[in-house]
Amino acid sequence: MPKVEINSKVCKACELCILNCPKGVLALGKESNPSGYHYVTVVNQDACIACKMCAIACPDAAIEIYK
Ligand code: SF4
Ligand code: SF4
Repeated sequence: MPKVEINSKVCKACELCILNCPKGVLALGKESNPSGYHYVTVVNQDACIACKMCAIACPDAAIEIYK
């Protein structure tokens, strides 16, 4: 099963990964990182198909997908 890993420290909460995920795996969280952004969290890990659209869309390379 694929695993989505978010580097919460560098996420700027731009939501591009959320908009590009076809499976609704990601969402903005309630916690904020040291820069004050409500960084993205994985809300539906089991639905991930490892397409990497989120990782490609992220301008800050904050997402890694492990197969
Ligand atoms: S790899 Fe694809 S399905 Fe998985 S979280 Fe990223 S965009 Fe969504
Ligand atoms: S695309 Fe990257 S920086 Fe933007 S919300 Fe997603 S993980 Fe954060």
